[in-house]
Amino acid sequence: MKKKFIMIGLVIILIVGTVLPFTSYAATEQELNQQRKDIEEDIKEAQERQEQIKGEVSETQEEINKLNDEISQKEAEIATITAELNQLTDELDKLTKQLNEAQEKYDEQFDSLCKRLAAQNKRGSVSYLDVLLGSNSLTDFISNYYMIEKIAEYDAELLSDIEENKNTIETSKKEVDAKKEVVAQKQSELKIEEISLTTKKTNKNKYLSQLGQEDQDLQKSIDEYNQKLKETDEELSRLARAQGNNGGGFVYTGGKLNWPVSGYRISSYFGYRGSAATGGVGTANHNGYDLACAHYTPIYAAEDGVVIKCITGCTHDYPKTYATRCYCGGGYGNYVMISHGNGLVTLYGHCSSINLNVGDTVTRGQKIGEVGSCGWSTGYHLHFSVILNGTYVNPGNYLG
Ligand SMILES: [Zn+2]
Ligand SMILES: [Zn+2]
Repeated sequence: MKKKFIMIGLVIILIVGTVLPFTSYAATEQELNQQRKDIEEDIKEAQERQEQIKGEVSETQEEINKLNDEISQKEAEIATITAELNQLTDELDKLTKQLNEAQEKYDEQFDSLCKRLAAQNKRGSVSYLDVLLGSNSLTDFISNYYMIEKIAEYDAELLSDIEENKNTIETSKKEVDAKKEVVAQKQSELKIEEISLTTKKTNKNKYLSQLGQEDQDLQKSIDEYNQKLKETDEELSRLARAQGNNGGGFVYTGGKLNWPVSGYRISSYFGYRGSAATGGVGTANHNGYDLACAHYTPIYAAEDGVVIKCITGCTHDYPKTYATRCYCGGGYGNYVMISHGNGLVTLYGHCSSINLNVGDTVTRGQKIGEVGSCGWSTGYHLHFSVILNGTYVNPGNYLG
């Protein structure tokens, strides 16, 4: 916006060249009002985006909550499957140990059998007489002979038993191994799913902080826009006060002004008062009278005159706190300024409604609007200022 004004300014300088010095280019009331509208539009746009962000934030927060639930569930599933996997590993360890023991037993038994078979073989290759001669008696011989044979037979049987047992263990080991592989596969799948969920959550959180940053930036812009709005309003006020010097056909010749409302209570006089920062209201240096009265109380023109400024558009017609105040109309909310000529201007602020336009002529006592609490106002009242040659003066010296 500012750029556009500079461009217009430059074009004018280029066209009118040396005739018009740069300093003489000042924004007209029309331009200032356009600037005002543009700024208000920018504020509205920023506030709309802020509302949108609010929605997006709560939506994203909801999604994160859902992801948290899903992650918790996935973690529980992983814990269950890990326990299952550990159990299978234990089982496998046990089976491996059993198999090793069986193998050991088998080896021992095989060894023992071999020895006995060797003894038998040896005996087979020699005559029974040798065995007989090697024995102390016949009984001894028979017993030795059968004993060896029986034991060999028993060893062989045992060996076959062990082998069978070994095979059984090996089979179950294979089964458990296969099962373990399936469970491990499932576990790694669950872990991948968990990582994917966590990544999603991280991205959502990142988006959330981006939204927070955008909201902060928007708020900063809004504050800047409001500052610009205030400056524009001040410029407009200066312009209006300057215009008040030429009477617009009216000439104030002294005499008391008409009280603009009836049924009022003066809640704040002209001059110093405690500011909002020190527990009071509004500005510390009060530039008018605050006339507290009921909502929608009629407001009457204090004197004949012409409307030189009329600001409407504040919809915040309710009592506010320092925290909830609005800056509409530079704090006056909806307000109207009437020039009575001879440099005298009256201002009516915080109006609920104004039924006038710039350029309208008004007569003393004519209804011009209704009392409200628009702008920076803590309760329903009319703010009434008297301006003489561009300076705020004490209304007490003018009112009848
Ligand atoms: Zn407002
Ligand atoms: Zn006031």
